[in-house]
Amino acid sequence: MPDPLKILFLSAEVVPFAKTGGLGDVGGTLPIALRALGHDVRVVMPAYRAIETDYYAGRGGLVARPGGLLVPMRGVGRPAGVYEGRLPGSDVPIYFIAERSLFDRPELYGYNDDAYRFAFYSRAALELTQLLGWRPDLLHAHDWHAAPAVTWLATAGQADDRFRGIGSVFTIHNLAHQGRGPWELMNDLGIITHGLLEETFGQLNFMARGIYHATLINTVSPNYAREMLTGPGGAGLDGLLRYRQNDVHGILNGLDYELWDPATDRRLPAHYTSAEPDGRQANKRALQARAGLPQLDDVPLAAMVTRLDWQKGLDITGHVLHLLMNDYAGPAQFVILGSGAAEYEAMLANLAGYHRGKMAAFLTYDAALAQLIYGGSDLFFMPSRFEPCGLGQLMAMRYGSVPVVRATGGLADTVHDALTGFTFLEYSSAAFWDAVQRAVYIYKVDRPSWQAMQRAGMQEDFSWARSARGYQQLYEWALMRMKG
Ligand code: ADP
Repeated sequence: MPDPLKILFLSAEVVPFAKTGGLGDVGGTLPIALRALGHDVRVVMPAYRAIETDYYAGRGGLVARPGGLLVPMRGVGRPAGVYEGRLPGSDVPIYFIAERSLFDRPELYGYNDDAYRFAFYSRAALELTQLLGWRPDLLHAHDWHAAPAVTWLATAGQADDRFRGIGSVFTIHNLAHQGRGPWELMNDLGIITHGLLEETFGQLNFMARGIYHATLINTVSPNYAREMLTGPGGAGLDGLLRYRQNDVHGILNGLDYELWDPATDRRLPAHYTSAEPDGRQANKRALQARAGLPQLDDVPLAAMVTRLDWQKGLDITGHVLHLLMNDYAGPAQFVILGSGAAEYEAMLANLAGYHRGKMAAFLTYDAALAQLIYGGSDLFFMPSRFEPCGLGQLMAMRYGSVPVVRATGGLADTVHDALTGFTFLEYSSAAFWDAVQRAVYIYKVDRPSWQAMQRAGMQEDFSWARSARGYQQLYEWALMRMKG
């Protein structure tokens, strides 16, 4: 095993403490998988309102570190509290930066001073290492919220004996949120540097800064790492990403294979494995009953579980559902669970009303029903417009529902056409429908091939242990780079 590394891990979201998307899953699970590889990982996040009320004052078992911190902002120490605890089920330390005027608010994000809030959090996290008497080998910063730490380390930090020589890995989860703010924040952080082309005069862009200043950069799938370098996929930062393209990597997110296991999942009526998949049939019947559909064993039951968002390809889905529900590929059933944009909710409610008894739409968020869908459906659709990694298809494969996906981002890396699922490339209803027809045909006329695909998907390894090994490799490369 390589030498254990000391990793300062900065994520604005960490399950179970705070989550709005995939970032939270990574923040809460990757550190534990890295710890299992022997590394000394310490996580730092802001003490949002839920931390203050549910975990600190409540039953969460966090303790305040005496003395707290003085965070250097504009040359003056601004006080902050530090709470500490462990990531649940592990011995990974987690620290919370407590500054009530900045973080004790109803939402995690969406405020005018977000750029300042996360600049403060980032700088505080670096200062915290001094309080702990712990010098990290590397900073691992996630998304724009932690990018100020990357920038500080690469500029002011190199003139500070306490931090000189510490490199950074910057992970991009969502290029759509870039963290723009006034240039004055550079003065707050004590950083002297030049503007980037991606920054309009007087403004800074923390996502661009993270990309520019990090020792190495990665995103959450190899294919998305390539797509980011192109105009359509780069969200305005493709030029900068191409400038750094030799340092841009892709590492797939993982699934918690203990939590997501059809052999033990308590939310499923019947358990099964890839060797003994028969339990799926009982789950299919339970799902049909829940959705008000006839309990037919040999009719393919297709499904989606998704945010109803522009990203997710719903505008090419309507026509495909119309064809599928009108039996153009033979009898079929369809269930969707999702909430979000009103126009998609209306479209799905209309279709479900029209095709009552064949299709059901649950326009809500329901984690237990999601599991029943993964464990009871035959086909799982993900026609995304773009998808940095995607978790839905990983869960579907783990639970034996064969995915039909658009070959974009992480979907293209994880679903192999005619081996573990069905893929299409062009973003159109015609291409999507073509893939659906192929899937339904195999389901109906070649059950042994169908079952082989199901098994192959269930046997794939998308565990965090695999991802953690990828990050370990990236850390080693970053350290080599810093040593010259
Ligand atoms: P994204 O993070 O872009 O929403 P992912 O595929 O990476 O997409 O992850 C989505 C996760 O959220 C999946 O685990 C999916 O099951 C879950 N999910 C999405 N919508 C719902 C819903 N309405 N009810 C329950 N779970 C949902």
